[in-house]
Amino acid sequence: MTDATHDPARLSWVASANGHAEFPIQNLPFGVFSIAGDRPRGGVAIGDAVFDIGAALELGLFSGTARDAAEAAAGPALNPLLALPASARRALRQRLSDILSVDSDARGNASRLLHDAAACTLHLPANVGDYTDFFAGIHHARKGGQISRPENPLMPNYKYVPVAYHSRASSVRPSGEDVRRPKGQRKLPSEATPTFGACRNLDYELELGVWIGAGNRQDEPIPIGEAAERIAGFCLLNDWSARDIQSWESQPLGPFLGKSFRTTVSPWIVTAEALEPFRIAQPARPDGDPPPLPHLLDAADQAHGAYDIDCDVFLSTPAMRAANAEPYRMCRSNTRELYWTVVQMVAHHASNGCNLRPGDLFGSGTISATDAGGIGCLLEMTFGGRDAITLGNGETRRYLEDDDVVVLQAHCRRPGAVPIGFGECRGRIVPATAA
Ligand code: CA
Repeated sequence: MTDATHDPARLSWVASANGHAEFPIQNLPFGVFSIAGDRPRGGVAIGDAVFDIGAALELGLFSGTARDAAEAAAGPALNPLLALPASARRALRQRLSDILSVDSDARGNASRLLHDAAACTLHLPANVGDYTDFFAGIHHARKGGQISRPENPLMPNYKYVPVAYHSRASSVRPSGEDVRRPKGQRKLPSEATPTFGACRNLDYELELGVWIGAGNRQDEPIPIGEAAERIAGFCLLNDWSARDIQSWESQPLGPFLGKSFRTTVSPWIVTAEALEPFRIAQPARPDGDPPPLPHLLDAADQAHGAYDIDCDVFLSTPAMRAANAEPYRMCRSNTRELYWTVVQMVAHHASNGCNLRPGDLFGSGTISATDAGGIGCLLEMTFGGRDAITLGNGETRRYLEDDDVVVLQAHCRRPGAVPIGFGECRGRIVPATAA
């Protein structure tokens, strides 16, 4: 499924791209950027630069299907690009790879085509119509369940249904924006009645975000064999969670205000095509687990529907920054830990006839591994806030404090492929508003 765009020997005339940890020419993620308050528009990350798709259109660098796709990718939101079939996205990727390769004569227009990424503001890449957060990290589901239901940590539906809740699209924001500590009704199990005030148990969740491409008509489910074509790309997603609000409000209807105050995503859409070299078989289910029901079972998906993506969480405290210390790595996990594939999530979501639309966003659920260094949220690391953890500089945390900065990162590394990354998903906690 790989092609010339993945060729490890391919180099770019954008010198910073060659050997770049995130954005070599083999990645080419799409995003929306602006410079100095100018209009937001579509671009592609290449090394330390952003390639301006609109400028390339003006220079006449595209033709045919690739030009149609470039026009769809040049505006202030990428929904028109996401709406196109995967074949059009692939044609654009192939042309961009040629334009940016060392063999291209486009380098003569570098000053028009490239912007210093450090000078660009990155926006949400698409207008999010609907946002659904899954719960596909089985180690997170089991550990979270142990805290509230030690006798029955995994609910009986877990191994049959890719469990999800419908979350809030309006408060999805791009990396870099501050995260206001929410207020809400809080009641810890030790308290008799709730009070209203600032969240005391603020947490992050390490998740893979999924950008939906071409959707489906209402009442027309997506057969699992066709679901892969509906997945346009991926990002990192931090499902900020107010645990004290969440645990009180969510019985019996699930998360609401404990989640809906904000979700942060990394700003680049790493395409399904860029991730082709990093697909792996879905790990076999443990002995005794039921097989997926037929509408969620597809041989090709089982054979290469999972991804090998290392995902990290870093925490930077005010004390670390004052000491000029590096952020502390809280977690290294991998998307191979997910119990359900993204194809199964898409097929399940549409199985009742629910229509998905271009620019819909999925979260995978918290990606925790089984080892102590691979846990994707504080709830699990501290066993519901019971056990403080010690950071590298000796500070301790149960939950996030004001002015803490959380950064998610993801990198793909496989023999025979050029490594690629996702870029940052960053947020700084700022105090709750005054009464
Ligand atoms: Ca979540």
